[in-house]
Amino acid sequence: MNRHPAPTFQRTDAQCNLCGTGMHLEAGEACPLCASTPPQRVMRSVFQALPHGLLAQRTLAPAPGPHGLDERWFAGRATPADLALADRAGAIDALDNLSARGVVYLDGDGGAIGALLALNCAPCSVIAMDVAEPGGGARQRATLLLRDPADAARWLPWLQAWHGPGAVAASVVEDPFAALRTELAVWQAEQRECSFWWRDDDLVADSPALRRLAALSQRHDAPVLVAVIPAQADAELASASAGGMPTLVFCQHGWGHINHAGAGQPNSEFGPERDAHDAEADLARGGERMRALFGERFMPVMVPPWNKLSPALAARLPALGLGGVSQYLAEPHAPVAGLVRVDTHLDIVDWRNGAGVREPAALVERLVAILQMRRNGQLREPIGVLSHHRVMLDGTWRFLDQLLAVTAGFSCVRWLHPRDVFQGMTSMIQTEAQCAA
Ligand SMILES: [Zn+2]
Ligand SMILES: [Zn+2]
Repeated sequence: MNRHPAPTFQRTDAQCNLCGTGMHLEAGEACPLCASTPPQRVMRSVFQALPHGLLAQRTLAPAPGPHGLDERWFAGRATPADLALADRAGAIDALDNLSARGVVYLDGDGGAIGALLALNCAPCSVIAMDVAEPGGGARQRATLLLRDPADAARWLPWLQAWHGPGAVAASVVEDPFAALRTELAVWQAEQRECSFWWRDDDLVADSPALRRLAALSQRHDAPVLVAVIPAQADAELASASAGGMPTLVFCQHGWGHINHAGAGQPNSEFGPERDAHDAEADLARGGERMRALFGERFMPVMVPPWNKLSPALAARLPALGLGGVSQYLAEPHAPVAGLVRVDTHLDIVDWRNGAGVREPAALVERLVAILQMRRNGQLREPIGVLSHHRVMLDGTWRFLDQLLAVTAGFSCVRWLHPRDVFQGMTSMIQTEAQCAA
């Protein structure tokens, strides 16, 4: 037997649905008797459609407040206006704070909200409605967000019966990490160790974004190799990062992130067109400054700005005291004696879109492809995730946070310390020190 028979309703849209007055209401105006606003009446109309017992608000006696709405439905927010999508972060925030039964109402376009939630790694069920404003009759859009798809399936017929089937549409914001979970389950089953590492570029000064990076890294116990632009770094940065950022270590991001490429050429600081003597002098003073500022927290790894490094200069890095190099998907290269190369493979910032948020599902798809290459032996280094704390928007931070959280659920995953990533380099440096001694 169906426990949820299709509902039927008798609605009277001519009345204010909060105080019941039959007085004529102008579309978009407050009720003269109870002062309810149109959004409040629309919201009540949404709630009235839901099955009795699912909704605390329906069982309450006429309200303590003027509108009679249970604020538990608004994730602790005081008024419907707070949830207007003009405050786009509000939708994400509200979803984060959903209770177990969790639902939240928003003004706005359900499709746009769905896209926004997808971009922010917030899987849920979305029910978008076009609602007649009780009393005034104007149409308003409303959206329910539900954590549990079963709730969406159960409530959809009730909402359709109340508002009309054509006025209600349901959709799903998929979990972008589902494919990653599936792939990692294979690693787990095959008892392989899956190693990741994390690099962040372009550090120049202490900032709220740097603190956010440090806190995220510490919370997930995932150390970061932060590439510093030496010419712009100063003692203030060194002392700020020395206190309270125990999971960060630092490496050299060129010298000044200054473009020396000719007109029409892609940007580069250490490309082939650069005079070798000048380039080496820049790298040497960069290394000196990094050692002076960061001491033991400096790792002698060179991250070339704009990902460009001439092979001739790469061959000179060990002589300049730089035993490691890290690029983003570097072109094929001849090995250099004394130089350990470990690249990054997943750049989480969408640079084509003005440092925007990259589609999480696309990022995960790419990551899964890299994991499969690794599993097939086509890639032999730990998987490097690349971030840029200075430019990242909330959605990118959320992706990173969730990536770290999802991988933490698999005991096969390890986020390596950069010192372990460049392990060969460490032993090489020790060997040199021993030889010198
Ligand atoms: Zn009223
Ligand atoms: Zn850079």
